[in-house]
Amino acid sequence: MTSPANDPHPRSRELFARSRERFPGGVNSPVRAFGAVGGTPRFVRRAEGAYVYDADGHRYLDLVGSWGPMILGHRHPAVERAIAEALAMGTSFGAPTERELELADRVVERYPLAERLRFTNSGTEATMSALRVARGATGRRLIVKFAGGYHGHADGLLVAAGSGAVTTGVPSSAGVPAEVAALTLVAPYNDAQALGQLFAAHGDDVAAVIVEPVAGNMGVVEPTPAFLRALRETTARHGALLVVDEVMTGFRLARGGAIERYGIDADLVCWGKVIGGGLPVGAYGGRVEVMDLVSPLGRVYQAGTLSGNPLAMAAGAATLDAIDATPGLYAGLEAAGERLADGLRQAAADAGVPVVVNQVGSMLTVFFNKDAVIDMESASRADTESFARWFHGMLRRGVWWPPSQFEAAFLSAALDENLIDELVTAATAAFAEVTGD
Ligand SMILES: *Cc1c(COP(=O)(O)O)cnc(C)c1O
Repeated sequence: MTSPANDPHPRSRELFARSRERFPGGVNSPVRAFGAVGGTPRFVRRAEGAYVYDADGHRYLDLVGSWGPMILGHRHPAVERAIAEALAMGTSFGAPTERELELADRVVERYPLAERLRFTNSGTEATMSALRVARGATGRRLIVKFAGGYHGHADGLLVAAGSGAVTTGVPSSAGVPAEVAALTLVAPYNDAQALGQLFAAHGDDVAAVIVEPVAGNMGVVEPTPAFLRALRETTARHGALLVVDEVMTGFRLARGGAIERYGIDADLVCWGKVIGGGLPVGAYGGRVEVMDLVSPLGRVYQAGTLSGNPLAMAAGAATLDAIDATPGLYAGLEAAGERLADGLRQAAADAGVPVVVNQVGSMLTVFFNKDAVIDMESASRADTESFARWFHGMLRRGVWWPPSQFEAAFLSAALDENLIDELVTAATAAFAEVTGD
């Protein structure tokens, strides 16, 4: 424990104490509280490029990237300019604007299978609404999700796998009625056979399967080709919709997200994070005949006072434009991701710490595991205590890694080769501390 006299974070400590009086656990979203790693969460004052700066004036290389949106790094000049221009014209009207069309055109161009879409204010709203549409379209009740998949905090999605062979979901949060959780079935990720069995038993009642096309919320887990094939074939055969949740992966793993990268065919797509360029935006979309079920045209109700907010639309459109204006941005992120993954594997091996580094493009997780991580069950065997020690070793050396073993680190275009090498140097020292006592 640091004594108050040489505490290098007095301001964060004080702000956290005050915040705990105001917010449950001192935060407005749980993972920010450092609960999984312990210690005082650093309060961020500002950010610039690849760095965030805390309330005590310390600088960190940022591998959180606001949990996904900041693919260009912080304070990209074109994004800032777009927000400033929108700001000067009024912040919210509750009426349609041309700006919504401008972002929508950019989305549809990158995701041709989503002919029509609806903007929301968060990824949670997008997935929740897409599933309502799927139920409206099919007249069916059940939803299938995968263990370890996170799709926001709607009741029917805060559901974990039941025990043993039972696939019926159980609530993973207090306040979710068992009756609601029972409408969600849970299957293991990357297991085409289990999905087939589940559909053999319940297929005629399934409205939709919702999936992270690359899992990011159990840590990064890449889908197998067989799993992706089974998703499409099984849902199509049983008349269920395939809802691909690209909230994390959209516009990140390729221009057209994981759908483009893996050639996935979806009935509904959900977006969030990058689509808002750091402002609150979500969206869901699909074919015309499915999306036209949404109100006011159709009977599936969904609305939002601030949906399509002009500042948020401007930030999203400017972000997508800035990505296109940077030749080779995705190839650069890909190379950076591989360089970081290789460096971390080598650093861990040198220190004699067994890790599995799962990396897809600019998403990466260092699992403190001996064996391959392919689903939630294998992920959950991680040594979370070693992760916590490593995390704090990184933080002390000025690297802000996501404060949980089961999250993705996000690279941004602001993280160049030199910074990655600095990061690997810090990681080497931090790995050495994991084994040493
Ligand atoms: C972050 C996330 C969500 C939820 O988005 P919010 O904007 O936090 O509500 C949904 N699905 C996936 C895959 C996510 O990563």
